[in-house]
Amino acid sequence: MTSDTLSAVTDALPIPILVIGPDDRIRAANPPVEAVLGPGIVGRLYITILRQPALLEAIAKVREGLDAQTTRFAGRDGTKDTIYRVVIARAGTDIVLSFEDQTAAEEAGQMRRDFVANVSHELRTPLTALLGFIETLGGAARDDAAARDRFLGIMQKEASRMTRLVDDLLSLSRVEEDERVRPREDVDLAGILSSVIKGLEPQAEKAGVKVCLRAPEESEVVPGDTGQLIQVFSNLIENGIKYGASGGVVNVTLFNREAHARLRGEGVQVSVADRGDGIPSHHIARLTERFYRVDNHRSREVGGTGLGLAIVKHIVNRHRGRLVIESEEGQGTEVSVFLPTQ
Ligand code: ATP
Ligand code: MG
Repeated sequence: MTSDTLSAVTDALPIPILVIGPDDRIRAANPPVEAVLGPGIVGRLYITILRQPALLEAIAKVREGLDAQTTRFAGRDGTKDTIYRVVIARAGTDIVLSFEDQTAAEEAGQMRRDFVANVSHELRTPLTALLGFIETLGGAARDDAAARDRFLGIMQKEASRMTRLVDDLLSLSRVEEDERVRPREDVDLAGILSSVIKGLEPQAEKAGVKVCLRAPEESEVVPGDTGQLIQVFSNLIENGIKYGASGGVVNVTLFNREAHARLRGEGVQVSVADRGDGIPSHHIARLTERFYRVDNHRSREVGGTGLGLAIVKHIVNRHRGRLVIESEEGQGTEVSVFLPTQ
């Protein structure tokens, strides 16, 4: 194949391709591979371009007549590192290198490992506490009725913490599963908001927080999944009660339907606002990550696992809606959900 036809073929391929001739010089390099290795490399000796030992070794093996080789290559484009899986194969007297970007796969793997590590850690803490108390109850505190009651109380709290974590994990995986299926029930928003508020009343009272609902005369009905939207507002209002308690009030507002640029169409906004301590701005973008908590210790104290907003985000996405979190330190936090009306 002439060099021209060879270049025409490699240029037509979308992945980075490099062809090395029998004289060890680069015969063809398509634009994607130039983006990885730099421009103007055709005609140069390949060892001056590919300086990573594992790759050079693999090329030498193929040159000696071994089968196709696979190796890794770390590319740097100035802003980020990219890991490529490189396949080196012989084509006549040439050697062809194809590069496959592994970043997404590696990131997915990393996320999975982080997730398992987080879950294990979250489960281990209450389990360790439980084991400790069981031991104490069986020994030192066996005949101490007062201590026994106190320990049982703590054990119950730790066990409910684990149940809650498992429930949250299950609902997260369920939501992820049907994220592509658009929900179609008619959901009466004012109705579910007042029932959620009613359900949280004991918790609000205990925290000294008043939850107020403002809704238009005529309620708004949107297409959605009732159970999931209840989950969304439960978590948002509960967060307002748990983390905004110092403000003493959580205002829940249901707005009339109107055109929203965020939805590129008509929708309904529900906002949950507290007057608590607020959230430092650098945390806001990360709140919807699984297990992300602003103040780990304080949040654990109030029983949070950090999964609530991750679930909220998935549910809102499933409804093709938008979630907006605004907060000012010392002023409070306002979380708004925008749901399309069709
Ligand atoms: P879970 O909802 O699973 O019980 P959680 O409430 O800790 O646990 P999220 O609802 O995801 O988890 O909230 C994540 C973190 O965001 C919280 O731990 C808290 O630090 C912070 N946060 C959420 N809402 C507020 C709020 N209204 N004011 C201040 N901080 C908040
Ligand atoms: Mg929460």
